Amino acid sequence: MLAAGLTAPAVQTAEQSKQPTLTGKPYQPPSTLDTNLPRDYTSDLPDLGDVSQTVLSPQDEQRIADQIMREVYVSDEVLQDSEITDYLQALGNKLAAASPDKRQVFNFFVVNDNSINAFAMPGGVIGVHTGLFIAANNESELASVLGHEIGHVTQRHLARMLASQKYDTFKNIAATALALLVARSNPQLATGAMVTASASTMQRQLDYTREHEREADRVGLAILDGAGFDVRAMPAFFTTMQRGTRFVEGSAPSFLRTHPLTAERIADVSNRVQNLSYKQAKDSLDFYLARAKIRAGLGFPQSAIDEFEENIRERRFNSEVAEHYGLAYAYLRKNDGVNSAREMQWLKTNAPAHPNFETLAAAIEINNKQLAKAQAIYAQALIKYPQHRALVYGYADSYLESRQPDKAVKLINEKLRLFPNDAHFYDMLAKAYTMKGQVLLKHQAQAEAYYRQYDVNRAVEQMELAAKAKDGNFYERSIVEARLKELRRQQNIEKEAKG
Ligand SMILES: [Zn+2]
Repeated sequence: MLAAGLTAPAVQTAEQSKQPTLTGKPYQPPSTLDTNLPRDYTSDLPDLGDVSQTVLSPQDEQRIADQIMREVYVSDEVLQDSEITDYLQALGNKLAAASPDKRQVFNFFVVNDNSINAFAMPGGVIGVHTGLFIAANNESELASVLGHEIGHVTQRHLARMLASQKYDTFKNIAATALALLVARSNPQLATGAMVTASASTMQRQLDYTREHEREADRVGLAILDGAGFDVRAMPAFFTTMQRGTRFVEGSAPSFLRTHPLTAERIADVSNRVQNLSYKQAKDSLDFYLARAKIRAGLGFPQSAIDEFEENIRERRFNSEVAEHYGLAYAYLRKNDGVNSAREMQWLKTNAPAHPNFETLAAAIEINNKQLAKAQAIYAQALIKYPQHRALVYGYADSYLESRQPDKAVKLINEKLRLFPNDAHFYDMLAKAYTMKGQVLLKHQAQAEAYYRQYDVNRAVEQMELAAKAKDGNFYERSIVEARLKELRRQQNIEKEAKG
Protein backbone atom coordinates (compact mmCIF):
# COMPACT_ATOMS: atom_id res chain seq x y z
CA MET A 1 0.00 0.00 0.00
CA LEU A 2 1.11 3.52 -0.54
CA ALA A 3 2.13 5.62 2.38
CA ALA A 4 -0.10 8.00 4.26
CA GLY A 5 -0.49 11.44 2.76
CA LEU A 6 -1.19 10.21 -0.73
CA THR A 7 -3.66 12.52 -2.38
CA ALA A 8 -5.26 9.83 -4.51
CA PRO A 9 -8.72 8.71 -3.37
CA ALA A 10 -8.67 5.59 -1.23
CA VAL A 11 -10.57 3.22 -3.47
CA GLN A 12 -9.43 -0.37 -3.12
CA THR A 13 -8.85 -2.06 -6.44
CA ALA A 14 -6.94 -5.08 -7.60
CA GLU A 15 -4.55 -2.57 -9.09
CA GLN A 16 -3.63 -1.30 -5.66
CA SER A 17 -2.79 -4.61 -4.14
CA LYS A 18 -0.12 -5.40 -6.70
CA GLN A 19 1.90 -2.27 -6.04
CA PRO A 20 4.60 -2.77 -3.45
CA THR A 21 5.17 -0.15 -0.81
CA LEU A 22 7.65 2.53 -1.65
CA THR A 23 10.17 2.04 1.09
CA GLY A 24 13.23 1.71 -1.10
CA LYS A 25 16.55 3.40 -0.68
CA PRO A 26 17.94 5.55 -3.47
CA TYR A 27 19.47 3.76 -6.40
CA GLN A 28 23.17 3.12 -6.00
CA PRO A 29 25.20 4.06 -9.05
CA PRO A 30 26.66 0.99 -10.74
CA SER A 31 30.22 2.20 -10.09
CA THR A 32 29.84 1.36 -6.42
CA LEU A 33 29.26 -2.29 -7.24
CA ASP A 34 31.79 -4.67 -5.83
CA THR A 35 32.43 -7.25 -8.51
CA ASN A 36 34.97 -9.22 -6.50
CA LEU A 37 32.59 -11.99 -5.69
CA PRO A 38 33.69 -15.37 -4.39
CA ARG A 39 34.30 -17.77 -7.26
CA ASP A 40 31.93 -20.48 -6.36
CA TYR A 41 29.79 -20.76 -3.33
CA THR A 42 26.83 -22.72 -4.63
CA SER A 43 28.73 -26.02 -4.44
CA ASP A 44 28.77 -26.07 -0.67
CA LEU A 45 25.71 -24.07 0.19
CA PRO A 46 24.84 -24.59 3.85
CA ASP A 47 21.28 -24.58 5.13
CA LEU A 48 20.61 -20.88 5.29
CA GLY A 49 17.05 -20.87 6.51
CA ASP A 50 17.95 -18.77 9.55
CA VAL A 51 20.42 -16.56 7.73
CA SER A 52 17.80 -15.64 5.17
CA GLN A 53 15.61 -14.39 7.98
CA THR A 54 18.27 -12.30 9.66
CA VAL A 55 20.51 -11.02 6.87
CA LEU A 56 17.95 -10.26 4.21
CA SER A 57 14.73 -9.35 5.96
CA PRO A 58 11.41 -9.14 4.12
CA GLN A 59 11.77 -5.33 4.42
CA ASP A 60 15.18 -5.50 2.74
CA GLU A 61 13.70 -7.65 0.02
CA GLN A 62 10.90 -5.17 -0.44
CA ARG A 63 13.40 -2.33 -0.80
CA ILE A 64 15.30 -4.30 -3.42
CA ALA A 65 12.03 -5.02 -5.20
CA ASP A 66 11.25 -1.28 -5.23
CA GLN A 67 14.65 -0.55 -6.76
CA ILE A 68 14.23 -3.22 -9.38
CA MET A 69 10.78 -1.95 -10.28
CA ARG A 70 12.22 1.54 -10.73
CA GLU A 71 14.60 0.08 -13.31
CA VAL A 72 11.80 -1.91 -14.90
CA TYR A 73 9.77 1.27 -15.42
CA VAL A 74 12.46 2.95 -17.46
CA SER A 75 14.02 -0.06 -19.15
CA ASP A 76 13.97 -0.34 -22.93
CA GLU A 77 14.32 -4.08 -22.45
CA VAL A 78 10.95 -4.32 -20.73
CA LEU A 79 7.86 -4.64 -22.88
CA GLN A 80 5.77 -1.56 -22.07
CA ASP A 81 2.44 -2.91 -23.28
CA SER A 82 -0.26 -2.76 -20.64
CA GLU A 83 -2.44 -5.43 -22.29
CA ILE A 84 0.37 -7.97 -22.23
CA THR A 85 1.68 -6.97 -18.80
CA ASP A 86 -1.79 -6.88 -17.25
CA TYR A 87 -2.49 -10.35 -18.63
CA LEU A 88 0.75 -11.74 -17.18
CA GLN A 89 0.11 -10.03 -13.84
CA ALA A 90 -3.42 -11.47 -13.69
CA LEU A 91 -2.14 -14.96 -14.48
CA GLY A 92 0.64 -14.54 -11.90
CA ASN A 93 -1.81 -13.31 -9.25
CA LYS A 94 -4.04 -16.30 -9.88
CA LEU A 95 -1.09 -18.64 -9.32
CA ALA A 96 0.22 -16.68 -6.34
CA ALA A 97 -3.19 -17.02 -4.70
CA ALA A 98 -2.54 -20.79 -4.67
CA SER A 99 0.98 -20.41 -3.26
CA PRO A 100 2.09 -21.21 0.30
CA ASP A 101 2.82 -17.55 1.11
CA LYS A 102 -0.28 -15.53 0.35
CA ARG A 103 1.11 -12.31 1.82
CA GLN A 104 3.90 -12.08 -0.73
CA VAL A 105 3.31 -9.36 -3.33
CA PHE A 106 4.42 -10.21 -6.87
CA ASN A 107 5.31 -7.98 -9.79
CA PHE A 108 5.40 -9.65 -13.20
CA PHE A 109 6.78 -8.11 -16.35
CA VAL A 110 7.86 -9.17 -19.83
CA VAL A 111 11.45 -8.74 -21.03
CA ASN A 112 12.02 -8.23 -24.74
CA ASP A 113 14.38 -11.12 -25.32
CA ASN A 114 14.12 -14.09 -27.66
CA SER A 115 15.87 -16.52 -25.35
CA ILE A 116 13.73 -18.97 -23.43
CA ASN A 117 14.02 -17.63 -19.93
CA ALA A 118 12.21 -16.52 -16.80
CA PHE A 119 13.74 -15.30 -13.57
CA ALA A 120 12.76 -14.44 -10.03
CA MET A 121 14.30 -11.59 -8.06
CA PRO A 122 14.08 -10.86 -4.35
CA GLY A 123 10.81 -9.28 -3.25
CA GLY A 124 8.64 -11.23 -5.68
CA VAL A 125 9.76 -9.54 -8.88
CA ILE A 126 9.42 -12.02 -11.76
CA GLY A 127 10.47 -11.43 -15.34
CA VAL A 128 9.44 -13.54 -18.33
CA HIS A 129 11.27 -13.34 -21.66
CA THR A 130 9.20 -12.98 -24.82
CA GLY A 131 11.03 -16.10 -26.06
CA LEU A 132 9.59 -18.20 -23.25
CA PHE A 133 6.13 -16.71 -23.64
CA ILE A 134 6.11 -17.70 -27.31
CA ALA A 135 7.61 -21.15 -26.68
CA ALA A 136 4.66 -22.00 -24.42
CA ASN A 137 2.07 -23.84 -26.49
CA ASN A 138 -0.73 -23.29 -24.02
CA GLU A 139 -1.52 -21.32 -20.91
CA SER A 140 -0.76 -24.16 -18.52
CA GLU A 141 2.79 -24.36 -19.93
CA LEU A 142 3.40 -20.68 -19.29
CA ALA A 143 1.78 -21.08 -15.87
CA SER A 144 4.09 -24.00 -15.06
CA VAL A 145 7.18 -21.79 -15.39
CA LEU A 146 5.55 -18.95 -13.45
CA GLY A 147 4.64 -21.46 -10.73
CA HIS A 148 8.26 -22.61 -10.62
CA GLU A 149 9.48 -19.01 -10.28
CA ILE A 150 6.89 -18.26 -7.61
CA GLY A 151 8.28 -21.34 -5.85
CA HIS A 152 11.78 -19.81 -5.83
CA VAL A 153 10.33 -16.65 -4.29
CA THR A 154 8.17 -18.25 -1.60
CA GLN A 155 11.08 -20.54 -0.64
CA ARG A 156 13.27 -17.43 -0.64
CA HIS A 157 16.04 -19.10 -2.63
CA LEU A 158 17.58 -15.95 -4.05
CA ALA A 159 17.43 -14.21 -0.68
CA ARG A 160 19.30 -17.14 0.84
CA MET A 161 21.89 -17.12 -1.92
CA LEU A 162 22.47 -13.39 -1.60
CA ALA A 163 22.60 -13.72 2.16
CA SER A 164 25.14 -16.51 1.84
CA GLN A 165 27.46 -14.10 0.05
CA LYS A 166 28.01 -12.54 3.48
CA TYR A 167 27.45 -9.08 2.14
CA ASP A 168 27.75 -6.81 5.09
CA THR A 169 25.80 -3.99 3.54
CA PHE A 170 22.36 -3.84 2.14
CA LYS A 171 23.79 -1.68 -0.63
CA ASN A 172 25.84 -4.53 -2.04
CA ILE A 173 22.92 -6.91 -2.04
CA ALA A 174 20.72 -4.41 -3.83
CA ALA A 175 23.44 -3.65 -6.38
CA THR A 176 23.95 -7.34 -6.99
CA ALA A 177 20.26 -7.91 -7.49
CA LEU A 178 20.11 -5.07 -9.99
CA ALA A 179 23.18 -6.26 -11.86
CA LEU A 180 21.64 -9.69 -11.95
CA LEU A 181 18.52 -8.28 -13.56
CA VAL A 182 20.59 -6.53 -16.22
CA ALA A 183 22.76 -9.59 -16.77
CA ARG A 184 19.84 -11.96 -17.05
CA SER A 185 17.72 -9.85 -19.30
CA ASN A 186 20.55 -9.00 -21.63
CA PRO A 187 24.16 -10.03 -21.08
CA GLN A 188 25.29 -7.83 -23.97
CA LEU A 189 23.89 -4.75 -22.28
CA ALA A 190 25.29 -5.53 -18.88
CA THR A 191 27.89 -2.80 -19.25
CA GLY A 192 27.61 0.04 -16.80
CA ALA A 193 26.64 -2.27 -14.02
CA MET A 194 29.67 -4.41 -14.77
CA VAL A 195 31.60 -5.76 -17.69
CA THR A 196 29.97 -8.60 -19.57
CA ALA A 197 32.47 -11.20 -18.42
CA SER A 198 31.86 -10.65 -14.73
CA ALA A 199 28.12 -10.40 -15.37
CA SER A 200 28.01 -13.86 -16.82
CA THR A 201 30.31 -15.11 -14.08
CA MET A 202 27.89 -13.71 -11.54
CA GLN A 203 24.97 -15.25 -13.37
CA ARG A 204 26.65 -18.64 -13.21
CA GLN A 205 27.34 -18.14 -9.52
CA LEU A 206 23.72 -17.37 -8.92
CA ASP A 207 22.41 -20.35 -10.82
CA TYR A 208 20.13 -22.25 -8.55
CA THR A 209 21.30 -25.48 -7.00
CA ARG A 210 19.64 -28.79 -7.75
CA GLU A 211 18.01 -28.73 -4.32
CA HIS A 212 16.53 -25.33 -5.05
CA GLU A 213 15.31 -26.50 -8.43
CA ARG A 214 13.65 -29.57 -7.02
CA GLU A 215 11.97 -27.51 -4.33
CA ALA A 216 10.77 -24.87 -6.84
CA ASP A 217 9.41 -27.67 -9.06
CA ARG A 218 7.58 -29.25 -6.15
CA VAL A 219 6.08 -25.95 -4.96
CA GLY A 220 5.39 -24.84 -8.54
CA LEU A 221 3.52 -28.03 -9.32
CA ALA A 222 1.35 -27.68 -6.22
CA ILE A 223 0.61 -24.07 -7.23
CA LEU A 224 -0.28 -25.15 -10.77
CA ASP A 225 -2.61 -27.80 -9.40
CA GLY A 226 -4.15 -25.49 -6.81
CA ALA A 227 -4.85 -22.80 -9.39
CA GLY A 228 -6.66 -25.29 -11.63
CA PHE A 229 -4.18 -25.64 -14.47
CA ASP A 230 -3.20 -28.81 -16.29
CA VAL A 231 -0.34 -30.23 -14.21
CA ARG A 232 0.90 -32.37 -17.12
CA ALA A 233 1.98 -29.12 -18.75
CA MET A 234 5.00 -28.88 -16.47
CA PRO A 235 6.86 -32.05 -17.49
CA ALA A 236 5.66 -31.50 -21.07
CA PHE A 237 7.06 -27.98 -21.26
CA PHE A 238 10.29 -28.95 -19.53
CA THR A 239 10.72 -31.75 -22.07
CA THR A 240 10.01 -29.35 -24.94
CA MET A 241 12.60 -26.95 -23.62
CA GLN A 242 15.17 -29.67 -23.08
CA ARG A 243 14.57 -31.09 -26.55
CA GLY A 244 14.89 -27.58 -27.94
CA THR A 245 18.55 -27.46 -26.94
CA ARG A 246 19.40 -30.01 -29.61
CA PHE A 247 18.51 -27.49 -32.27
CA VAL A 248 20.25 -24.58 -30.64
CA GLU A 249 23.80 -24.03 -31.73
CA GLY A 250 26.20 -22.99 -29.03
CA SER A 251 24.82 -22.19 -25.64
CA ALA A 252 21.69 -23.72 -24.22
CA PRO A 253 18.57 -21.61 -23.73
CA SER A 254 18.93 -19.52 -20.58
CA PHE A 255 16.26 -21.32 -18.61
CA LEU A 256 18.27 -24.53 -18.86
CA ARG A 257 21.36 -22.74 -17.66
CA THR A 258 19.90 -20.72 -14.83
CA HIS A 259 17.56 -23.49 -13.76
CA PRO A 260 19.66 -26.57 -14.58
CA LEU A 261 17.11 -28.74 -16.36
CA THR A 262 18.13 -32.35 -16.03
CA ALA A 263 16.49 -35.60 -17.09
CA GLU A 264 16.30 -36.42 -13.40
CA ARG A 265 14.31 -33.25 -12.71
CA ILE A 266 11.87 -34.00 -15.50
CA ALA A 267 11.44 -37.57 -14.30
CA ASP A 268 10.84 -36.29 -10.79
CA VAL A 269 8.12 -33.91 -11.95
CA SER A 270 6.55 -36.59 -14.17
CA ASN A 271 6.34 -38.95 -11.20
CA ARG A 272 4.64 -36.35 -9.05
CA VAL A 273 2.15 -35.62 -11.83
CA GLN A 274 1.18 -39.31 -11.89
CA ASN A 275 -0.13 -38.91 -8.37
CA LEU A 276 -2.29 -35.92 -9.17
CA SER A 277 -5.75 -36.13 -10.62
CA TYR A 278 -6.06 -34.86 -14.16
CA LYS A 279 -7.93 -31.64 -14.70
CA GLN A 280 -9.03 -30.39 -18.07
CA ALA A 281 -7.84 -26.79 -18.14
CA LYS A 282 -9.33 -24.47 -20.69
CA ASP A 283 -6.84 -21.94 -22.03
CA SER A 284 -7.99 -18.36 -21.78
CA LEU A 285 -8.32 -16.35 -24.97
CA ASP A 286 -6.31 -13.68 -23.14
CA PHE A 287 -3.26 -15.96 -23.22
CA TYR A 288 -3.44 -16.49 -26.97
CA LEU A 289 -4.08 -12.79 -27.64
CA ALA A 290 -1.12 -11.68 -25.52
CA ARG A 291 1.09 -14.26 -27.23
CA ALA A 292 -0.09 -13.25 -30.71
CA LYS A 293 0.52 -9.57 -29.94
CA ILE A 294 4.09 -10.38 -28.88
CA ARG A 295 4.63 -12.42 -32.05
CA ALA A 296 3.22 -9.62 -34.20
CA GLY A 297 5.80 -7.25 -32.74
CA LEU A 298 8.86 -9.39 -33.45
CA GLY A 299 11.19 -9.30 -36.44
CA PHE A 300 10.24 -7.69 -39.74
CA PRO A 301 6.50 -6.93 -40.08
CA GLN A 302 6.35 -8.87 -43.35
CA SER A 303 7.78 -12.06 -41.84
CA ALA A 304 5.24 -11.81 -39.01
CA ILE A 305 2.48 -11.36 -41.63
CA ASP A 306 3.74 -14.37 -43.59
CA GLU A 307 3.82 -16.53 -40.49
CA PHE A 308 0.27 -15.65 -39.36
CA GLU A 309 -1.12 -16.08 -42.88
CA GLU A 310 0.56 -19.44 -43.30
CA ASN A 311 -0.76 -20.65 -39.95
CA ILE A 312 -4.28 -19.57 -40.90
CA ARG A 313 -4.03 -21.16 -44.35
CA GLU A 314 -2.75 -24.47 -43.00
CA ARG A 315 -5.03 -24.29 -39.95
CA ARG A 316 -2.01 -24.63 -37.68
CA PHE A 317 -3.09 -22.89 -34.48
CA ASN A 318 -4.64 -23.35 -31.07
CA SER A 319 -6.72 -20.23 -31.49
CA GLU A 320 -7.77 -19.04 -34.93
CA VAL A 321 -9.02 -15.82 -33.38
CA ALA A 322 -5.55 -15.04 -32.00
CA GLU A 323 -3.95 -15.63 -35.42
CA HIS A 324 -6.24 -13.08 -37.06
CA TYR A 325 -5.68 -10.68 -34.17
CA GLY A 326 -1.89 -11.03 -34.51
CA LEU A 327 -2.15 -10.63 -38.28
CA ALA A 328 -4.07 -7.38 -37.85
CA TYR A 329 -1.30 -6.02 -35.60
CA ALA A 330 1.41 -7.19 -37.98
CA TYR A 331 -0.32 -5.29 -40.82
CA LEU A 332 -0.63 -2.26 -38.57
CA ARG A 333 3.13 -2.31 -38.06
CA LYS A 334 3.45 -2.04 -41.84
CA ASN A 335 0.97 0.86 -41.85
CA ASP A 336 -1.32 -1.31 -43.95
CA GLY A 337 -4.66 -0.01 -42.71
CA VAL A 338 -6.70 -1.80 -45.37
CA ASN A 339 -5.57 -5.34 -44.56
CA SER A 340 -5.55 -4.58 -40.86
CA ALA A 341 -9.18 -3.42 -41.08
CA ARG A 342 -10.06 -6.59 -43.01
CA GLU A 343 -8.69 -8.74 -40.17
CA MET A 344 -10.55 -6.56 -37.67
CA GLN A 345 -13.74 -7.23 -39.63
CA TRP A 346 -13.04 -10.95 -39.44
CA LEU A 347 -12.74 -10.65 -35.66
CA LYS A 348 -16.01 -8.71 -35.41
CA THR A 349 -17.81 -11.44 -37.30
CA ASN A 350 -16.16 -14.52 -35.80
CA ALA A 351 -14.70 -13.74 -32.40
CA PRO A 352 -16.34 -13.19 -29.02
CA ALA A 353 -16.30 -9.61 -27.73
CA HIS A 354 -13.00 -8.70 -26.05
CA PRO A 355 -11.55 -5.37 -24.87
CA ASN A 356 -8.31 -6.02 -26.80
CA PHE A 357 -10.29 -5.89 -30.05
CA GLU A 358 -11.55 -2.42 -29.12
CA THR A 359 -7.97 -1.23 -28.56
CA LEU A 360 -7.05 -2.71 -31.93
CA ALA A 361 -10.04 -1.14 -33.72
CA ALA A 362 -9.11 2.27 -32.30
CA ALA A 363 -5.45 1.80 -33.23
CA ILE A 364 -6.50 1.09 -36.82
CA GLU A 365 -8.50 4.35 -36.90
CA ILE A 366 -5.55 6.27 -35.48
CA ASN A 367 -3.30 4.75 -38.14
CA ASN A 368 -5.81 6.05 -40.71
CA LYS A 369 -5.60 9.51 -39.06
CA GLN A 370 -9.25 9.20 -37.99
CA LEU A 371 -8.83 10.51 -34.43
CA ALA A 372 -12.51 11.32 -33.94
CA LYS A 373 -13.51 7.79 -34.97
CA ALA A 374 -10.92 6.33 -32.61
CA GLN A 375 -12.23 8.49 -29.78
CA ALA A 376 -15.76 7.28 -30.42
CA ILE A 377 -14.53 3.67 -30.15
CA TYR A 378 -12.68 4.40 -26.90
CA ALA A 379 -15.70 6.16 -25.37
CA GLN A 380 -18.03 3.26 -26.23
CA ALA A 381 -15.56 0.57 -25.18
CA LEU A 382 -14.86 2.18 -21.80
CA ILE A 383 -18.54 1.95 -20.92
CA LYS A 384 -18.31 -1.80 -21.42
CA TYR A 385 -14.74 -2.27 -20.10
CA PRO A 386 -14.10 0.55 -17.60
CA GLN A 387 -11.13 -1.32 -16.07
CA HIS A 388 -9.22 -1.90 -19.29
CA ARG A 389 -6.15 0.28 -18.89
CA ALA A 390 -4.98 0.24 -22.52
CA LEU A 391 -8.26 1.87 -23.56
CA VAL A 392 -7.72 4.75 -21.14
CA TYR A 393 -4.12 5.18 -22.29
CA GLY A 394 -5.17 5.25 -25.93
CA TYR A 395 -8.11 7.57 -25.30
CA ALA A 396 -6.06 10.07 -23.29
CA ASP A 397 -3.23 9.92 -25.83
CA SER A 398 -5.65 10.70 -28.63
CA TYR A 399 -6.78 13.83 -26.75
CA LEU A 400 -3.17 14.90 -26.28
CA GLU A 401 -2.47 14.16 -29.94
CA SER A 402 -5.40 16.33 -31.05
CA ARG A 403 -4.39 19.05 -28.55
CA GLN A 404 -7.47 18.74 -26.37
CA PRO A 405 -5.74 18.85 -22.95
CA ASP A 406 -8.92 19.75 -21.04
CA LYS A 407 -10.59 16.56 -22.20
CA ALA A 408 -7.45 14.57 -21.38
CA VAL A 409 -7.35 16.01 -17.84
CA LYS A 410 -11.02 15.25 -17.26
CA LEU A 411 -10.68 11.66 -18.48
CA ILE A 412 -7.50 10.92 -16.52
CA ASN A 413 -8.83 12.40 -13.29
CA GLU A 414 -11.97 10.28 -13.61
CA LYS A 415 -9.96 7.12 -14.24
CA LEU A 416 -7.40 7.79 -11.51
CA ARG A 417 -10.06 6.66 -9.07
CA LEU A 418 -9.75 3.18 -10.57
CA PHE A 419 -5.97 3.22 -10.96
CA PRO A 420 -4.59 5.49 -8.22
CA ASN A 421 -1.10 3.97 -8.45
CA ASP A 422 -0.62 4.17 -12.19
CA ALA A 423 2.46 6.29 -12.97
CA HIS A 424 1.60 6.56 -16.66
CA PHE A 425 -1.67 8.34 -15.84
CA TYR A 426 0.33 11.05 -14.05
CA ASP A 427 2.79 11.26 -16.95
CA MET A 428 -0.08 11.95 -19.33
CA LEU A 429 -1.57 14.40 -16.86
CA ALA A 430 1.75 16.29 -16.74
CA LYS A 431 1.75 16.47 -20.55
CA ALA A 432 -1.80 17.84 -20.56
CA TYR A 433 -0.94 20.54 -17.98
CA THR A 434 2.18 21.44 -19.97
CA MET A 435 -0.07 22.00 -22.98
CA LYS A 436 -2.35 24.16 -20.86
CA GLY A 437 0.64 26.12 -19.51
CA GLN A 438 -0.20 25.26 -15.90
CA VAL A 439 3.15 25.10 -14.11
CA LEU A 440 2.15 24.05 -10.59
CA LEU A 441 -0.14 21.27 -11.75
CA LYS A 442 2.40 20.04 -14.29
CA HIS A 443 5.18 19.62 -11.72
CA GLN A 444 2.78 18.16 -9.19
CA ALA A 445 1.66 15.50 -11.68
CA GLN A 446 5.27 14.79 -12.65
CA ALA A 447 6.16 14.37 -8.96
CA GLU A 448 3.33 11.89 -8.48
CA ALA A 449 4.49 9.98 -11.55
CA TYR A 450 8.04 9.67 -10.17
CA TYR A 451 6.69 8.66 -6.79
CA ARG A 452 4.82 5.80 -8.42
CA GLN A 453 7.97 4.80 -10.28
CA TYR A 454 9.61 4.38 -6.86
CA ASP A 455 11.86 7.40 -7.45
CA VAL A 456 11.30 9.54 -4.36
CA ASN A 457 14.28 11.87 -5.01
CA ARG A 458 12.98 13.05 -8.35
CA ALA A 459 9.48 13.21 -6.89
CA VAL A 460 10.77 15.68 -4.27
CA GLU A 461 12.56 17.73 -6.98
CA GLN A 462 9.37 18.06 -9.00
CA MET A 463 7.21 18.84 -5.96
CA GLU A 464 9.68 21.58 -4.98
CA LEU A 465 9.25 23.09 -8.44
CA ALA A 466 5.48 22.87 -7.98
CA ALA A 467 5.78 24.69 -4.64
CA LYS A 468 7.76 27.49 -6.30
CA ALA A 469 5.28 27.88 -9.14
CA LYS A 470 3.42 31.18 -9.17
CA ASP A 471 0.22 30.04 -10.84
CA GLY A 472 -1.48 27.95 -8.20
CA ASN A 473 -4.43 29.00 -6.06
CA PHE A 474 -4.42 28.74 -2.28
CA TYR A 475 -6.03 25.31 -2.28
CA GLU A 476 -3.57 23.86 -4.82
CA ARG A 477 -0.55 25.31 -3.01
CA SER A 478 -1.71 23.81 0.29
CA ILE A 479 -1.96 20.36 -1.25
CA VAL A 480 1.49 20.69 -2.83
CA GLU A 481 3.07 21.85 0.44
CA ALA A 482 1.55 19.03 2.46
CA ARG A 483 2.61 16.50 -0.13
CA LEU A 484 6.13 17.92 -0.33
CA LYS A 485 6.46 17.54 3.43
CA GLU A 486 5.38 13.91 3.21
CA LEU A 487 7.72 13.14 0.30
CA ARG A 488 10.67 14.72 2.16
CA ARG A 489 9.84 12.63 5.19
CA GLN A 490 10.01 9.49 3.04
CA GLN A 491 13.22 10.69 1.44
CA ASN A 492 14.74 11.01 4.91
CA ILE A 493 13.64 7.52 5.90
CA GLU A 494 15.43 6.22 2.82
CA LYS A 495 18.56 8.23 3.58
CA GLU A 496 18.65 6.86 7.10
CA ALA A 497 18.23 3.30 5.89
CA LYS A 498 21.16 3.79 3.50
CA GLY A 499 24.26 1.67 3.99
ZN1 LIG B 1 14.52 -22.55 -11.16
